[in-house]
Amino acid sequence: MIIDLRSDTVTKPTKGMLDAMLTAEVGDDVYKEDPSVNALEKRLADMFGMDEALFFPTGSMANQAALKLHTNPGEQVICDQYAHIYNYEGGGASFNSGISCKLINGHRGMFTAEQAEASINPPDFYHSPLTSLIEVENTTNKGGGACWDFEELKKIKEVADKHNLGYHLDGARLWNALITTGESPKQYGKLFDTISVCLSKGLGCPMGSVLIGKSDLMKGALRVRKILGGGMRQVGFAAGAGLYALNHHFERLSEDHTKAKEIGEVLAKLGSIKKIEPIETNIVIFELNNDVDETQFLNSLKEKQIYIIGMGSNKLRMVTHLDYTNAMHDKLLTTLKAL
Ligand SMILES: *Cc1c(COP(=O)(O)O)cnc(C)c1O
Repeated sequence: MIIDLRSDTVTKPTKGMLDAMLTAEVGDDVYKEDPSVNALEKRLADMFGMDEALFFPTGSMANQAALKLHTNPGEQVICDQYAHIYNYEGGGASFNSGISCKLINGHRGMFTAEQAEASINPPDFYHSPLTSLIEVENTTNKGGGACWDFEELKKIKEVADKHNLGYHLDGARLWNALITTGESPKQYGKLFDTISVCLSKGLGCPMGSVLIGKSDLMKGALRVRKILGGGMRQVGFAAGAGLYALNHHFERLSEDHTKAKEIGEVLAKLGSIKKIEPIETNIVIFELNNDVDETQFLNSLKEKQIYIIGMGSNKLRMVTHLDYTNAMHDKLLTTLKAL
């Protein structure tokens, strides 16, 4: 039994999902003739109460397209120092859009409206880059699956409106936040100009993300996706998996969250661990004591076929997911207790 907690992207399609993929009706999506993709896009646009949605192969590409749609070369996006768009998209903000990131030193990947407003460059001061976008991530990945306070997101929206800035949400794991907080997709649709969501994380699809947004911005999205190389043909097989996942794998995310909390409770009792980030969703980030060697710790788990990931500076990460079974959970907890 291999226990892979490196990420929630390691899942493989279930039997039910494979059936949905096999029976999906397909067409050429570059001509917008794939009925399954069209159905998935309509479903998500309606779900968020937004005008349009567009299917992308990856979440990075959906975010990168959003950055391009909101900005011109030379401009600046405000985001947290932990942001995925800054840390984990290969420098795409500068490569694809010619923009820079103004980083906020936030808390667990989140910041306040005051911090956002203080990061805006005065538009008439032509020496500094023109600020054009505020980007937030919910849940925060590097921040340990933390969920934003919706009231703060509303205050940031006011700042964006006051200064005429775009407002993009990297919602790769928004599904996890919705399950934890009880908030609705429509609340998010009202607040943001564009939202990216992943199908290939907690929802368990083999691929796919969707960018959802207002029509004035989204009218350029097809062209940007084509430029980025993301125009795919009979991709309804993947959209079929997405539709299946929305029906069958959304509510169950609470199971992943429960397991993550239970892992945290066991970790809290271990002498080798200094600190555990509060566990709100499916991500557990913890810090080893200074006298504990990270490689040794990882190896002792590897010997038991348990795989987790290092995040640098003695911090480690576990992510629970659809393929992490009850039997694996029992074995993991037993193994941890014996460390
Ligand atoms: C995973 C992830 C993405 C998208 O990643 P891809 O691997 O490109 O699909 C975007 N933002 C966050 C916060 C993520 O965790």
